[in-house]
Amino acid sequence: MGHLAVSDAQRLVLDSITRLETETVGLEQSLGRVLAQEIRANRDLPPFDVSAMDGFALRSADVVNAPAQLAIIEDIKAGDLPIQTVAAGQCARIMTGAPMPPGADAVIRVEDTQEVSANRVQINKPVKPKNDVRPQGENMRDGDVVLTVGTEITPGVIGVLATVKAAQFAVFRRPRVAILSTGNELEGMDEPVDPNKIPDSNSHALMAQVQALGIEPVLLGIARDDPAELEQYLMRGLEYDVLLVSGGTSVGVHDYVRPTIEKLGVQMKFWRVAMKPGHPLAFGMTDKTAVFGLPGNPVSSMVCVEEFVAPALRCMMGNTRLFRRILPARLANPIKHQPGRTEFVRVQLARDEAGYSASATGTQSSGVLLSMARADGLMIVPAASTGLAAGAQVTVQLLDGTVFQDEIGFRE
Ligand code: AMP
Ligand code: MG
Repeated sequence: MGHLAVSDAQRLVLDSITRLETETVGLEQSLGRVLAQEIRANRDLPPFDVSAMDGFALRSADVVNAPAQLAIIEDIKAGDLPIQTVAAGQCARIMTGAPMPPGADAVIRVEDTQEVSANRVQINKPVKPKNDVRPQGENMRDGDVVLTVGTEITPGVIGVLATVKAAQFAVFRRPRVAILSTGNELEGMDEPVDPNKIPDSNSHALMAQVQALGIEPVLLGIARDDPAELEQYLMRGLEYDVLLVSGGTSVGVHDYVRPTIEKLGVQMKFWRVAMKPGHPLAFGMTDKTAVFGLPGNPVSSMVCVEEFVAPALRCMMGNTRLFRRILPARLANPIKHQPGRTEFVRVQLARDEAGYSASATGTQSSGVLLSMARADGLMIVPAASTGLAAGAQVTVQLLDGTVFQDEIGFRE
């Protein structure tokens, strides 16, 4: 198997997996899920013409030559039903959201009026027909499709679902994900510190990346570099929809992950991608499980989750937007690059008048996890690049935490 371009490897992953089946959820448990059914309006909203302002409902023809005085015949609050018809020379006091009384065709806001007595008001200026009237069905019409299949459920969508009284509806199921670390050198979180060992950070960093997608993964633990033990762990992992194994996918004589998963019936789709970090990535499928053999290096495995695993998981959950947002930026410091592999440089972003400037987060060794911990994004250095000068236009893929990027709000 050759060294695939990143985009070709991404396509192979997405071509191998499918959207999962649907399940029913209640409105209050649905944030972050993806709709698997169309949602329609169950009535007109507003149900009739209503006032958009606190003011007076009147006949616009009566105030063409304003100022003009009108008799107040009724007081209509939101939730009331008007009783009287507004005739020539009359008006009704009306509150925002209250139904328009018959006879009236416009509203004037209270600020443009002066009360003369308890039942007379002076209208200070003319208004056009329909002024400050929200027409029936402006928000939605009975039977309208208001949300389509594939809609990601955000707080705004929750508001629409509640508006149409959708208490339960179909969403796509979330994948069940298992995470396994491999390596004799690894020390678990609950084991005492041993100076000869390497702490297993991958289990936890990968778990958090999966949790950030709204999925609660299962940690299988640490398998030693022993084919029999590895086989036991991998067999458990193959009971899930997605298995993430880190370490042991490279060319070392004790890298048993690929031969063992193949022995267990996983059909390998690719091994090794023209990227840095993340080169030894392996991917395969059984008829029910997608298996990602992630590089052991902590940064490499996280970058592979960003570029391959997260889009796959989102696709399974019915999302159509699979990849992280990219942003143009200017490079703060020059970057050396040998043509051949796409490089993902961990960068911090700073905002200035011209947009964003990107600076590398210190050493880019794939073992230095702090470069990832400090990063706002991954800057893409194209495979063909021969290096980038300071000031070069670059593309940065945003990471978690960058939605709330700025310490101060906008200035107008
Ligand atoms: P490997 O891919 O197994 O050759 O591992 C490459 C490097 O990543 C080695 O230095 C490992 O010690 C390290 N590594 C592997 N798995 C983990 C892990 N779960 N947590 C932290 N480092 C790891
Ligand atoms: Mg290893």
